[in-house]
Amino acid sequence: VKKVVVIGAGVAGLATAIRLAVQGFEVAVYEKNATPGGKLTAFNDNGFHFDAGPSLFTQPQNIEALFALANEPIADYFSYKTVPVACKYFYENGKTVQAYTNQQMFASEMEQQLGEPAANVTSYLHNASKLYQNVATIFLNFSLHKKSTWLHFRVVKALRSLKFAYLFKSLGNYNTRFKTEEAQQIFNRFATYNGSNPYKAPAMLSLIPHLEQTEGAFYPTGGMVSITNALHKLALKKGVHFHFNTPVQKIIYTDNQAKGIVVNNNNIMADVVVSNSDVYFTYKHLIGNHKKAQKVLKQERSSSALVFYWGINKTYPQLDLHNIFFTKNYQAEFDHIFKLKRLYNDPTIYINITSKQEQQQAPNGCENWFVMINVPANTHYEPATLIAQAKANILHKLQTMLGDDVSKHIVVEHTLHPQTIEQNTGSYMGSLYGTSSNSKMAAFLRHPNFTSAIKNLYCCGGSVHPGGGIPLCLKSAQIVSDLIKSDVKVAAHA
Ligand code: FAD
Repeated sequence: VKKVVVIGAGVAGLATAIRLAVQGFEVAVYEKNATPGGKLTAFNDNGFHFDAGPSLFTQPQNIEALFALANEPIADYFSYKTVPVACKYFYENGKTVQAYTNQQMFASEMEQQLGEPAANVTSYLHNASKLYQNVATIFLNFSLHKKSTWLHFRVVKALRSLKFAYLFKSLGNYNTRFKTEEAQQIFNRFATYNGSNPYKAPAMLSLIPHLEQTEGAFYPTGGMVSITNALHKLALKKGVHFHFNTPVQKIIYTDNQAKGIVVNNNNIMADVVVSNSDVYFTYKHLIGNHKKAQKVLKQERSSSALVFYWGINKTYPQLDLHNIFFTKNYQAEFDHIFKLKRLYNDPTIYINITSKQEQQQAPNGCENWFVMINVPANTHYEPATLIAQAKANILHKLQTMLGDDVSKHIVVEHTLHPQTIEQNTGSYMGSLYGTSSNSKMAAFLRHPNFTSAIKNLYCCGGSVHPGGGIPLCLKSAQIVSDLIKSDVKVAAHA
């Protein structure tokens, strides 16, 4: 049986391990942390449960596909439900919008609350769905860097449906088709789903709302960490071996062929190596190829985040599972994040409260707030300064918009900032999604799922094709396992 080692137990590493174990490989995962999940972990404090990283769950079919492939009943591992409102939006002018996942309801809410013609919303979402079905399904499911992808019969159809505007207009410019600034702001925000700037990123990103506004938004029972737990359990069931607290020091290669890894100064030999580590660090530390590492950095990093995990000793009925408090000047906020690399004093604030879905995620009469603002990836702030300034900005804005001094109700506080994101998960500069999509060619410049320099070395996860976020990371696992299947002759099925 051929041996595979996977470096890192992030969501993409876990999914790749499952797929390869099902294909009959002997798979071992080496993870530097004590637990699996990478960015997708959780912690508890004084009866408050906090998901540490991702909070929005879309496309559960990517998880279901893994259980179907492994021929295991998903219900024994994982359950989730749909949420009727994808997000509740708050504006400083007092307006609010509930983004219902029912398209008709969402369109009429936009008309009633903002005066945005419902037809503008439905036609936008219709175009997003078409774009997703024609283009994204090809580019998200296959390597962009293999000739076979370009010979695929659906590529011609995909390319035909690619309008000039999708590539050459920015998302912000494309979204001026909405009459109201508030509607533009909602649809510009989707660029942040891969850590990009809507005023730079191509209008191609207009397909993102298709995911949550058309396919739906979901909530996993037990919080987002249930995804990690389910995949870890499935991997164990399929015979994957896990080695936690085991940082990989080097990838062994000779004659430009990967031969294994070094852990605890011991050589572990393997036929295939898959790195779920940030591709920049894979080149810099694991391969020692500084030139290639620098090449990765030619692309701008995606934004990072500053998160406050607040245990709140009060309930706020006006809030939902996902809430956004918009800045008054979105363009200025993105200029600060990407151009000036500074904190903006009127940030857009995201608040996720899972106790709205499951009361037991917080003590009685309390709520577990995950409060996040976007910040530059390469912030040069000293963390204590960054945290103090951001906290003051957030509390001031919430006081204005909620009419309440939230600071009086914080009974538990933890923080996550770019430096701790890098320390915890090995994401260079703490960027959430690897590289940004701020250039028109971003999708093509993103690192492939294999390396041309070293045979039998593959890459999965948010820093490589097709990109960051749980759905795309799971797609990268599928692409990598398909590449390995066709590249490596598998021994008899285990
Ligand atoms: P990662 O989670 O980055 O994990 C990589 C793993 O590799 C880590 O466990 C690390 O310890 C390990 N590793 C690295 N180097 C080594 C080494 N040398 N040896 C051994 N192990 C190593 N996505 C969404 O879909 N929805 C959201 O709402 C969302 N919100 C987010 C909010 C925050 C605050 C953050 C941080 C991220 C968010 N994301 C969201 C992004 C999402 O979390 C990531 O895209 C995804 O989890 C990345 O998974 P990954 O497989 O690339 O690996």
